[in-house]
Amino acid sequence: MNWKRVGCGNVADFFSVLIALQMAPAVRQGQRFAVIATNDNAGRFPPVEPIGAGLGGCCPRCGKGRLFSGLLKVAPRCDKCDLDYSFADAGDGPAVFVILIVGFVAVGLALWTEVSFDPPLWLHFLLWIPLTLALSLVALRLVKGVLVTLQYANKAAEGRIDR
Ligand SMILES: [Zn+2]
Repeated sequence: MNWKRVGCGNVADFFSVLIALQMAPAVRQGQRFAVIATNDNAGRFPPVEPIGAGLGGCCPRCGKGRLFSGLLKVAPRCDKCDLDYSFADAGDGPAVFVILIVGFVAVGLALWTEVSFDPPLWLHFLLWIPLTLALSLVALRLVKGVLVTLQYANKAAEGRIDR
């Protein structure tokens, strides 16, 4: 499957617009912002498609090193190109997407099962609690990877006032 330029540009543009809107009032007031360079030495590496790298849990700069050191814990740095991952701060982002997506799937399936088969309540618990837990953990890792690689690709960081 070829991920290049399918949805990634649109998602990246969406985040760029969000960041621009957030900084707009301060820029109008004449404050100067210094963009924090998280892309240092990026010129030495061929461009990495951020969504593919994020879904695969790969480094956003070299695309080869591992992004995670545990299931959901971001490693301190890339084991291949030594990129410092301290810029990575997805915050509550992954949880929001996972709640919306997994909630939609699990509740939809539970409603459909109830209406179609009218199973006993214990069967609902047996089916949907493990499914929700498993889907949430898998989706959290995928979404967190994508948000961190997009954050790197868009140089998104907390705004700082340059005095
Ligand atoms: Zn790397």
